[in-house]
Amino acid sequence: MLKQQVLRPVRAIVISPLPMPQCHQTVQPRRKSAAVAASRSTALAGPPKVQAIRRHRTSGLPTEGCYVAARDAVTTYVALGANLGDAAQALRQAVAAVRLLPLTQVTRTSSLYKTAPLEAGPSGEQRAPGGDYINAVIEVQTSLTAPEFLTELQRIELAAGRERPYINAPRTLDLDVLLYGRGSIDSKHLTVPHPRMMERAFVLVPLAEIAPALITAVQLQAVAHQ
Ligand code: AMP
Repeated sequence: MLKQQVLRPVRAIVISPLPMPQCHQTVQPRRKSAAVAASRSTALAGPPKVQAIRRHRTSGLPTEGCYVAARDAVTTYVALGANLGDAAQALRQAVAAVRLLPLTQVTRTSSLYKTAPLEAGPSGEQRAPGGDYINAVIEVQTSLTAPEFLTELQRIELAAGRERPYINAPRTLDLDVLLYGRGSIDSKHLTVPHPRMMERAFVLVPLAEIAPALITAVQLQAVAHQ
């Protein structure tokens, strides 16, 4: 059953809630020392951990590194968007795929929002050609590093048929890392906080829905014209 609700002042329409995933994994805590690490790897030989190791193999990441590199879980926020094919279904499948990532849990999901396509113009974001987008934001706890996490998100995009023929091209699935903990990263492949997140109603409105403490009324008002 689709939920129709006009949100003001931002002109985004909530079309349905995303399913809240079941969590099947436990994120490993940071190791305190080499001695603790050694005892942990002994513990990993026990039956409860075998399942986790198998899950990790299916991701394509190094199995040993999964636990050797275990660290505190980081709270990240990911923006999802699509405007080709069954976009709502693409977002639901993407959430399911993120849920299956190693050392990762999806802890909150926003509603799905229907928004007009935007691109950067001379006076800020303006309407782009193409059909409406379905957008959402999810909160994720992960012990993957930021580059590992981005690589996994890009793998999910590719699996959904994502192509990049030109900038702002319509897309079957777009996944952007908005925040990675309190980290600030500016590398060739990854910038967080996402440089344009504060300019976009389709990011701020769903983010404010699941993490209201992160967004102020002034920031929401600044994108209310979109
Ligand atoms: P897009 O076409 O919008 O999905 O942009 C993808 C490109 O942006 C990739 O080359 C990423 O390496 C890069 N990128 C930089 N920062 C981020 C971020 N925070 N989230 C997702 N992609 C990013």
